[in-house]
Amino acid sequence: MIPFVDLKAQYRSIKPEIDAAIGRVLETGAFALGPAVADFEKQFAPYGGVAFAAGVNTGTSALHLALLALGVGRGDEVIAPAMTFIATVSAIDYTGARPVLVDVEPGTCTMDPAKIEAAITPRTKAILPVHLYGQCADMDPILEIAKKHGLPVVEDCAQAHGAEYKGRRAGSMGVMGCFSFYPGKNLGAYGEGGAVVTDQPAHDKAIRMLRDWGTDKKYYHDLKGYNYRMEGIQGAVLGVKMKYIEEWTENRRAAAKLYRERLAGIPGVRVSQEAMDRRHVYHVFAVFVENRDEVAKRMQEAGVGVGIHYPIPVHLQKCFAELGYERGDFPVAERIGAEELSLPIFPELSREQIDQVVSELEKSIRG
Ligand SMILES: *Cc1c(COP(=O)(O)O)cnc(C)c1O
Repeated sequence: MIPFVDLKAQYRSIKPEIDAAIGRVLETGAFALGPAVADFEKQFAPYGGVAFAAGVNTGTSALHLALLALGVGRGDEVIAPAMTFIATVSAIDYTGARPVLVDVEPGTCTMDPAKIEAAITPRTKAILPVHLYGQCADMDPILEIAKKHGLPVVEDCAQAHGAEYKGRRAGSMGVMGCFSFYPGKNLGAYGEGGAVVTDQPAHDKAIRMLRDWGTDKKYYHDLKGYNYRMEGIQGAVLGVKMKYIEEWTENRRAAAKLYRERLAGIPGVRVSQEAMDRRHVYHVFAVFVENRDEVAKRMQEAGVGVGIHYPIPVHLQKCFAELGYERGDFPVAERIGAEELSLPIFPELSREQIDQVVSELEKSIRG
């Protein structure tokens, strides 16, 4: 049995520190925001290469608030990739704005910069690239187009803690970066969590007010806000995990390197691309195979936990039928949806386990 992720192995490796940190929150009673969250924010901002980080309750809320802080609302449009987790696009929808989708690149599976300009209209208010699978989108051309049209870029960094593009950290390139600390993410809370990072004090202030009912003084509600506060216990857990995130990321990268070596030359497998100018942090190790569903089923039956990210691109999801897209609109995203298979990857994954996954993949492809 090789699990897709192994959250228990990681907890065992840091249990005394985690238990003590949670114990301190229980003793102080600071359950919503509080000192543990503030400490984590102070660690996380420099990790993202920015001045400010504001902890919130989920990654989805981070995206929602970043868009609200830019004034995005009804009648506006926000450009996002067709291949992403649904939350990216739902967060746009929450603001009342219309998501406008573009296709992704076949190698990296991230937003295709060549498709953006055709999607820009007078209503466009922001561009929202996603650093899918843990690899930054091709940010320079995206930022250049944004600048030309006077548009802000918000980065969806939910899968990309510590990822880099030409030496710049995920979250530091757009006006704001949005992170998720869902338990299965590279930096995971023991519950839900998220953060918005930025270099701009005004955006940081807006996020801090919006996450806490629009106040910076209790019971004086200057903005229409939300209850999107980060929990104290999650801040404490994340604060401990910050010590290990670089080591865990390097372990993921080493596992990916080994996968690439082992998979080279295996017929019927295409491996997703790691671009030369980027530090991929491998939230997902994506390969592409024909008969993906059959291969995935055989691997599960052989005891190898595999995933699919994601089987249905956003434009074909029932909940967004109202956007009016059709099959064939984003062929690259559709092909990824049909062929992508995520192999197990987590920091504790061993060499032997990698060899076993590769041999089961070979067998499953042969049928
Ligand atoms: C996980 C994820 C989110 C949402 O984060 P939550 O913390 O689950 O709300 C947003 N975008 C992407 C790309 C994600 O993978």
